[in-house]
Amino acid sequence: MSAPAAEDLRGTDEPSPHVRSESDVLPYLAALTGLAVLIDAWPVETPMAAGAVALGTMMLAVLAFARQLSAMRTSAQEQSEATARNFAARFEALAQHSSDILTILDAQGRVEFVSPAVASVLGHSPSQLVGTRLTGLLHPDDVEAAETYLASLARDGEPASAIQRPSGAHQIEWRIANAKGDWISVVNVGTNRLLDPVVKGIVLNTRDVTEENSIRLQYRHQAFSDPLTDLANRSLFVYQVGHALTRAVRLQQPVTVLVLDLDNFKTVNDSLGHAVGDQLIVEAARRLVRCVRDSDLVARLGGDEFAILIEDSTRVDDANVVADRIGRALAKPFSLNGKDVFVSASIGIAGTSRGETADELVRNADVAMYVAKTRGKGVRVFFEPAMHAAALERLVVEADLRSAIECEEFLLHYQPIVQLDSGEIIGAEALVRWSCRERGIVAPSLFIPIAEETGLIVPIGRWVLRRACHMAREWEVARGKAMHISVNLSSRQLREPGIVDDVRDALRDSGLAPQHLVLELTESMLMHDTELSIARLNALKQLGVALAIDDFGTGYSSLSYLQRYPIDILKIDRSFVEVIDRGDDGPVLASAIVAIGDALRMSTVAEGIETEEQRAALRGLGCELGQGYLFAPPVDEAAFYRLLLVRGARSFSPLRSHRKPGAAVA
Ligand code: C2E
Ligand code: MG
Ligand code: MG
Repeated sequence: MSAPAAEDLRGTDEPSPHVRSESDVLPYLAALTGLAVLIDAWPVETPMAAGAVALGTMMLAVLAFARQLSAMRTSAQEQSEATARNFAARFEALAQHSSDILTILDAQGRVEFVSPAVASVLGHSPSQLVGTRLTGLLHPDDVEAAETYLASLARDGEPASAIQRPSGAHQIEWRIANAKGDWISVVNVGTNRLLDPVVKGIVLNTRDVTEENSIRLQYRHQAFSDPLTDLANRSLFVYQVGHALTRAVRLQQPVTVLVLDLDNFKTVNDSLGHAVGDQLIVEAARRLVRCVRDSDLVARLGGDEFAILIEDSTRVDDANVVADRIGRALAKPFSLNGKDVFVSASIGIAGTSRGETADELVRNADVAMYVAKTRGKGVRVFFEPAMHAAALERLVVEADLRSAIECEEFLLHYQPIVQLDSGEIIGAEALVRWSCRERGIVAPSLFIPIAEETGLIVPIGRWVLRRACHMAREWEVARGKAMHISVNLSSRQLREPGIVDDVRDALRDSGLAPQHLVLELTESMLMHDTELSIARLNALKQLGVALAIDDFGTGYSSLSYLQRYPIDILKIDRSFVEVIDRGDDGPVLASAIVAIGDALRMSTVAEGIETEEQRAALRGLGCELGQGYLFAPPVDEAAFYRLLLVRGARSFSPLRSHRKPGAAVA
């Protein structure tokens, strides 16, 4: 088959413009010659002869004009034929060389012409296809759309403007069978040229997009799946929850989302390494998938957090059933690197109740999961709206705390520690404050717990340590007399192996002598992971710093622990000081703590002294040092230095003499 009208038109030369202009003037010359003869014969002898000459001249003129008219018509036809020839030649060149398939269909969708590319793209020979209906080759699912497309193109297309339309205007994708019978995805751009005298059909430009589609699918898969577990990721999960919610409205069925977090993951990751942590995640994902029906969706939201979407559940209790199954599935030990590891999960469950969006539903389940986490391991909690406000505040605080570290929004207040008899200041406890742009000065009780939970306490604590050492040294240099500075350490900080380096660096960079730094620990810190705590505290002691137990008496430490740890100072908790002057039993506990300090040769520092009576009672018990509003509240740097100048002790030691710095007690 060949391109329409191409063969018979090829090879005809156009007349040259020069020849045409000569032939154009010839009729006029003939007419003018006739007129000249008439004038020459004038005056004629007889009227009859004159009439004959006039008639002859008129006929000549008419003939000349008739000839001219016919010449013009021929020229117009020649021009249009030349245009058609040009178009046909161009069309054929395009059709021959394009990697796209060019097809011309008649108004009923039958193939009239198809370019040779059909052989390389689909393996069909062009001659086989001519005369067949194109839709006969299409995937059954695509036939209806293709027929509608072609019919509307045949009906509504405007050939002249269709060519100029943006290519997407008439685009459609369908699957077409190749010679082997495989489905090939192609994109077609159709143009109606039914009224074009040369083409007289619908032109389809067809491009193979099979590979393009598979790459696109691959990208889509990557964008919506978690590479480690191959589960859906958060984006896909939220998207599917959205879909489920739309369906749920129609079908009046509840949608439930479970968010779960592995309880022991961090320990596994920290102690056995990230590769083993990854193994745990993959195995946990496998077990989770087995806990749900095929129609439910399991996703990994990130880290050790997973989510499950339960749709079409007929029983209200379905979420509980799934949670039970998850509990059982995770209870079996995970064999990782030859070790049996036990894992549980905290589960938060949220269902639709008042037209929540997908994001809200997932967030509600997340909030419930967070509450479950605070209640212990392996706990499940159903979301209640009241949980929201608290959790939201916590999330906001967490986000703000992160930026507070970057923007250095922390500052220290200093509470003097005094000799109870003279009131002279021998040192200070550094107490951190968060100078938040929105909240003003925030007390540590409001943000330290969140900072501990999120690990943000580590950079915050490092800053506190460096700032406190720096200021103590600066005051020492300015005043010419040393003082003690006490810094609180959180248990999270103590667990970090880098804490010893942090303390060493803070001392070195500030120039503060180690024996002027006291690190305050809480009893609970000493209860966990005893061997590690002893090793860490001994390493700190080796630096030459002093160690104090804060809020002593409120924890659960046994006296035997006290002997094992290299502790120098016991700080008597405010609750014992508060009651010290109240009746017979008031001073009993404070007195016992002072006695323990005496027995173990540790110093005692009383906290929260607010009245002269309390001070006197403590002195009576033999407690030598204290802090409290009676002497001064925590104040900023400038105010503390002013206090120090007026009431600073000339010489001091908060330590008993027996325990030399670095002499650790094993
Ligand atoms: P703490 O170490 O026991 O600090 C003593 C707390 O008692 C301080 O509260 C102080 O302002 C308050 N206080 C002092 N004298 C009196 C008094 O006479 N009466 C009463 N009612 N209270 C008094 P603050 O500054 O709010 O600190 C609270 C806790 O926050 C601290 O308890 C400490 O455990 C923690 N904290 C403070 N700064 C830091 C820090 O830099 N790092 C860590 N990890 N924890 C810190
Ligand atoms: Mg303290
Ligand atoms: Mg305290």
